[in-house]
Amino acid sequence: MNHKNTFKAISPIDSQPLEGEFEIADKKQIDKAVQKAVAAFDMYRKKSKEEIAQFLEQAAAEIEDLGEELIERGHLETALPHGRLTGERGRTCNQLRLFASVVGEGSWVDARIDNANADIRHIHIPLGPVAVFGASNFPLAFSTAGGDTASALAAGCPVIVKGHPAHPGTAELVAKAVIKAAEKTGMPEGTFTLIQGNSYEIGEYLVKHPDIKAVGFTGSYKGGKAIWEYVNTRPEPIPVFAEMGSTNPVFILPNAMKERSSAIATDLAASINLGVGQFCTNPGLAFVQTDEHGANFNRVLAQKITQTPATTMLTSGIKAAYDKGTAELFNSSNVQQLANGEDENAPNQAVSKIFQTTIDHFLENEMLSEEVFGPSSVLVGYSQKEEILKAAKGLQGHLTATVHATEADIAEYQELFDILEKKVGRVVLNGFPTGVEVCHAMVHGGPYPATTVPQSTSVGTNAIKRFVRPVCYQGYPDSLLPKALQNNNPLGIWRLINGELTKGFV
Ligand code: NAP
Repeated sequence: MNHKNTFKAISPIDSQPLEGEFEIADKKQIDKAVQKAVAAFDMYRKKSKEEIAQFLEQAAAEIEDLGEELIERGHLETALPHGRLTGERGRTCNQLRLFASVVGEGSWVDARIDNANADIRHIHIPLGPVAVFGASNFPLAFSTAGGDTASALAAGCPVIVKGHPAHPGTAELVAKAVIKAAEKTGMPEGTFTLIQGNSYEIGEYLVKHPDIKAVGFTGSYKGGKAIWEYVNTRPEPIPVFAEMGSTNPVFILPNAMKERSSAIATDLAASINLGVGQFCTNPGLAFVQTDEHGANFNRVLAQKITQTPATTMLTSGIKAAYDKGTAELFNSSNVQQLANGEDENAPNQAVSKIFQTTIDHFLENEMLSEEVFGPSSVLVGYSQKEEILKAAKGLQGHLTATVHATEADIAEYQELFDILEKKVGRVVLNGFPTGVEVCHAMVHGGPYPATTVPQSTSVGTNAIKRFVRPVCYQGYPDSLLPKALQNNNPLGIWRLINGELTKGFV
């Protein structure tokens, strides 16, 4: 790799470099990190469920101990407000603790025992070292010790994080906390490593390394697709769990619009503007009836957007992509700009924007379904049920779809719900897609191109299943079996024995 070996963070607030030099990993360092992860794997995967849970708990505590230094550095590197970052730190630590509780309880390994005929016993085992790409838009919760890292570590996999170059100082602070937790709880060296850099070659080299066994990624479609493609050129392809964002269509059905057009418009404006629109669940598309209630909705939404101050985005690159995307919409024939937020008065600020088009034009123009990352949304006017169903049928995979409906709308639009569950990972009724709760039932995923693996989720406790594979043992004596499968159930976990879920013995 042919570039200088350190880089600096650039603050989006004033486009100036921040304190600190960060080493750009070279091939040797990446090789070393992977070798250490391979060596760690054999020890780490044998750690007890209590030991891994303790490590994750300690990582949460160490991150909290970083105090205001972490929040301040995060703010300077991302322009996200202190309050948002404090909330995100809470989410990150709670996520680590939630995985600690799942691992500590132990039943997630899906132990199954059949001994009516042959003795066959099934369990999930970790895949091996995992490469994680930190996301720019969640410098804590989807980055260094974010959901991918927490779920891979919980599964028993060592993790090598490729930090996002927009927040290297934040990444380094969090990495130090995780390594400190690993040391304090007796985890092998190499269980967790952060590598940094600002070149695509680093990510490419990492995911092509033969000893990396899975990849977690959150970011752009272009980036996720590129990483997926690198991996598919490997002699041994591996799973790439890429979450690449989406447009998150919102359908406002006629009776809901009639009953509460102003309230929906007000809340939609807040959802569009949340986090300067820099969420993969940002509502980028809304289907609105072209009657007087729809007109009121447009008026209220336009008013809210017009009053929105311009706000600093995460990076100059993201701001440039936002300006390019909104300019393409502005210049597109049959698309009108309905509202424009307040003007920018500092570098890298995004002006919120709403565009409007007809359903016919939407159905003919694929570009209108593409994500413009930031606080903008396209309203699509419809007048008949058939039009909305046709639009829904034509959707590609998204992370979410949202429907605003009354009981009468639900009865009349059953088919819409049937269509949407085939298109997305999460269907939201009478709510908004932004805000992804970390819980057991959450699905943050969806069919391609929202993700590369539609069977998976990157948020919630099921995210752990991405980093394991099933293995079964046939005819093994008790002494050779993992504890989770031994006759007397020494871990005290739930198991499926001859088809019956029990904590009992064989
Ligand atoms: P990104 O460009 O996808 O980058 C994310 C990470 O992937 C970075 O570490 C980047 O490496 C790496 N990467 C990207 N393309 C690569 C390639 N071809 N080969 C190897 N590594 C590659 O995302 P971003 O920088 O955060 O933002 C850019 C755009 O991504 C936004 O405008 C937005 O459209 C989208 N985005 C989506 C989400 C989401 O939630 N799905 C979140 C954030 C951003 P480098 O270190 O070299 O940059």
